[in-house]
Amino acid sequence: MDLSFIINELGEDREQYFNAIAPPIVQSSNFAFGTVSAMRERLLDEFQGFLYSRGNNPTIDILRQKLAALDGAEDALVFSSGAAAIFAAVFSQVQQGDHVICVKEPYSWARQLLENLLPRFGVETTFVDGTDSANFEKAMQPNTSVIYLESPNSLTFSLQDISAVAALARSRNITSIIDNSYCTPLYQQPHVMGIDLVLQSATKFISGHSDTVAGVLTGTREKIRKIFTSEFLTIGSGIAPFNAWLLLRGLRTLEIRLQRSAESTRQVVAFLKAHALVEKVYFPLDPDFPQYELALRQMKGAAGLVTIQLKATRREQVEIFCDALRHFLMAVSWGGHESLAFPACAALAEGDFDPQEEKHRMVRLYIGLEDADYLIKDLEQALGKMGDA
Ligand SMILES: *Cc1c(COP(=O)(O)O)cnc(C)c1O
Repeated sequence: MDLSFIINELGEDREQYFNAIAPPIVQSSNFAFGTVSAMRERLLDEFQGFLYSRGNNPTIDILRQKLAALDGAEDALVFSSGAAAIFAAVFSQVQQGDHVICVKEPYSWARQLLENLLPRFGVETTFVDGTDSANFEKAMQPNTSVIYLESPNSLTFSLQDISAVAALARSRNITSIIDNSYCTPLYQQPHVMGIDLVLQSATKFISGHSDTVAGVLTGTREKIRKIFTSEFLTIGSGIAPFNAWLLLRGLRTLEIRLQRSAESTRQVVAFLKAHALVEKVYFPLDPDFPQYELALRQMKGAAGLVTIQLKATRREQVEIFCDALRHFLMAVSWGGHESLAFPACAALAEGDFDPQEEKHRMVRLYIGLEDADYLIKDLEQALGKMGDA
């Protein structure tokens, strides 16, 4: 399917709503029926029709069709957060006594689920270094039911060989799940590589405007239907119609925003790599990135996030750099119009800073839609202040 068709036309039946160009926000919790038999039919199966907006809703349905198609999947579910998509995906695939294999440094709330919540129900997780596919095989147990990937991750951009791990999972009848937030379906297609369930935080690039929190999960119709009728309706963490509408609006410009951010990111990376106070630059499509070949093989692009490791010997220097930034806002998250800085040391108690620890000197930057030179000048002056300190 053409990307332009998906973004501009798919799922939009404008004759149903006055030929309006923008889809309506159907702000209704429930839907009426003309006959008992029509109601009975819907009560038996609300997966594809409209009964109650915890399940389906016309605005959300348009979004659902587009997001499934973008992933090259049969169907999708849209959640009120990426974390809810992670929860539903994993929870739907495990039973008491099962075992999960997960990459070493998954998104923090995926870790929380696997490390602290699921053990209460007898589900244990082994965390492995995903840069070597053999580690998944080594961690395998007879009761392994899920392999959970995140490639690249959103701090050091560590990758997994997605096709290799997916093939291993298939051969053992294990469900493979990936967090594809960094790439979005435009820059990486995990279903094509054999992954069963693909999720992403739509809060990031899909929304693109830092104004809504949402998540997406895609897979075969059979798998998605099963999750819809059990976890999705039970947890009740579907997206609200207005937030779905914001995501539809975000999707219209997804491709062009990614292109702009990717181009600026390349320029910023070139600047940072040449700067004396930057010890290391992490960016998956940089030829010096340790997994560059793999990134080229399985990713079509990379935009926005880049992490720098500062040449600093004291916490104050990292803080002076971050505090001096004028056009990068200091905040968590990413994927919006605005450039951001997230210093790893902000998550550390002041006394815990260890200059020997590479991670403590890391600052994750997100390159938004501003002009690249405008951002580079800002980085230059902030690095200068750090150098003077
Ligand atoms: C933000 C994020 C999530 C969680 O998504 P929310 O929408 O914040 O719940 C999951 N994975 C990655 C990689 C993220 O960056």
